[in-house]
Amino acid sequence: MKQKKKGNQKVTCPYCGAHAVLRDAGFVYGEGAMVEKLYVCSNYPACDSYVGVFRNSDIPKGTLANSELRNKRIRAHKSFDAIWKEGIMTRGQTYQWMQHKFSLTKKQAHIGYFSDYMCEELIRSCEDVLKNNMVKGA
Ligand SMILES: [Zn+2]
Repeated sequence: MKQKKKGNQKVTCPYCGAHAVLRDAGFVYGEGAMVEKLYVCSNYPACDSYVGVFRNSDIPKGTLANSELRNKRIRAHKSFDAIWKEGIMTRGQTYQWMQHKFSLTKKQAHIGYFSDYMCEELIRSCEDVLKNNMVKGA
């Protein structure tokens, strides 16, 4: 098995082109942060962009995001999660729906990789699904 799970991955900031550095989350969030590690732009805080890693790995959860995009991804995830939390689809089905809707591969179907534009599109599509499946008596 040649798969490399450890060691700094080459991660570049999409905003300023600088390298991102793997740091403890406390560097950004302060002490007591829940997340373990983040890839932070080496120009931080002048360039406010970072992304978390998957648990027990050094693999980034997506592309680095500035605060605007981070907020959009959080909103997009909330709309997306609402679909399976309301029981309109299962979680797996919701991912399949998103893949199909935006012609994404399974690998691409992660909000962590989404741009501002994709987040907006996803939010709009999720709101349509929620509207068309109004949960009764809620
Ligand atoms: Zn940067």
